[in-house]
Amino acid sequence: MHFDIITIFPGFFAGIFEHGIVRRAQAEGLVTVGVHDLRAYTHDRHRTVDDRPFGGGEGMVLKPEPLAEALAGLGMEPKAARAQTEVAERTRVILLSAQGRTLTQPLARELAGLERVVLICGRYEGVDERINQLYCDMELSIGDYVLSGGELAAAVVVDTVMRLVPGVLGNEASGEFESFGVADAEITTDQTGVPRSQHGAGGLLDYPHYTRPAEFGGLQAPEVLLQGDHQQIRRWRREQQLRKTLANRPDLLERASLSDEDKRLLDSIRTGS
Ligand code: SAM
Repeated sequence: MHFDIITIFPGFFAGIFEHGIVRRAQAEGLVTVGVHDLRAYTHDRHRTVDDRPFGGGEGMVLKPEPLAEALAGLGMEPKAARAQTEVAERTRVILLSAQGRTLTQPLARELAGLERVVLICGRYEGVDERINQLYCDMELSIGDYVLSGGELAAAVVVDTVMRLVPGVLGNEASGEFESFGVADAEITTDQTGVPRSQHGAGGLLDYPHYTRPAEFGGLQAPEVLLQGDHQQIRRWRREQQLRKTLANRPDLLERASLSDEDKRLLDSIRTGS
């Protein structure tokens, strides 16, 4: 999968993709990232990328011409010309914007199935709306707050999406066993028929994790995790997932995939029994 990032601050990305999974995915050729300086597509002495807003008001707006040239330089035609071509199926041009659809794990999973994602980083008051209308398949927000530029958002999108590209995570299934994982709550067994100590998150938040030492800061790691009884561990972890989701993100429970056992556990958590 290939990401292109169009930005007025290409230096922002120096080093940001050179750590951990993101670095490894690139080293293994599973993912590539191209960072493109918007100013390279200007033609005046000052390399001007912004101008005052029509209608007045605060701030500046990123001009359409350099962005259109940058997109053309990446082989991205206006979306009307791209429609119904193979490129349209495999590629998305995305405008990072606080006004966009919110990035979620299911959406990240969808994007991870593409071959190429072009990310446009806004600055100042944003990008001339005609770029959105003519070129962008989607406006994407990383949350309900306003950043000073799209660069941090682009980095978040690249990180979130690339780890879902097949082969990037060491264990293919591990994306299913973390917060927002989609695999349903069915209990799976290993080759010997023993229930695994975890199962698909079913859309819930992850359970808490512990490692050595068993006692730290006066707190003991939960006894059940030290015993090696996989059935008990599975049940404890599931209960913790339900507790955490109920406490922090009850909205997720409405669309979670819950087994009968989950529903019983949730009832007893709610009633405190
Ligand atoms: N005037 C815009 C508004 O009120 O929605 C805010 C512009 S913001 C200061 C500058 C740029 O930061 C935006 O064009 C966008 O690219 C980026 N940005 C800000 N918040 C964002 C968010 N929550 N998600 C993604 N990008 C964001």
